[in-house]
Amino acid sequence: MTRHPSEATLLAYVAGTLPAPHSIVIRTHLALCGDCRALVRQATELGGALLEDQAPAAMAGDALARTLARLGEPDRAPPPARVPVTVEDFATRRWWWIGPGIRLMPLIRRDRSDARLDLIRVAPGLAMPGHGHTGSELTCVLQGAFSDETGEYHAGDVAEGDEDLDHCPVAMPTGRDCICLIATTGRLRAHSWLARLVQPLVGV
Ligand SMILES: [Zn+2]
Repeated sequence: MTRHPSEATLLAYVAGTLPAPHSIVIRTHLALCGDCRALVRQATELGGALLEDQAPAAMAGDALARTLARLGEPDRAPPPARVPVTVEDFATRRWWWIGPGIRLMPLIRRDRSDARLDLIRVAPGLAMPGHGHTGSELTCVLQGAFSDETGEYHAGDVAEGDEDLDHCPVAMPTGRDCICLIATTGRLRAHSWLARLVQPLVGV
């Protein structure tokens, strides 16, 4: 494993500001990566120490109500001991056909932060239709490997993209299907007619 989330993304995870789908992708990587786990632990401890140094302040009268209202927002739980999303968890669920050799399984459909979580499965050697994004994209490889304009990604690796990234990921030609957990915000900007045709059907 050589491709890790950026420090900014790990800190956003610690601060609890990532959308829930993006948090799940980071938690998946953390379960597999001791280096990033150590970084998250340090950042969490540092955050706690900073809070301890603060002078006590009176709480607002509605603090409890506001805290309760935030239940269900992106979680700030510590890194998990096991991988939160594995291919085996979804072995019996249905994949959507979205192109030759390409299948998609929606896991979280567009939440209130306009983010979604999908599994994408690409047969060896096949390319995803080229696309750009209107928001951020966070990918963790669960099985197989792929490459795009930014490099090669193997199991456990994380790829990060934003609205400037326009890429055409290709699954490695040998081995098993490449299966990725992908969190996105905004919409895909598909180049091909086929992708544009399928896009409304699966909602990406
Ligand atoms: Zn890492």
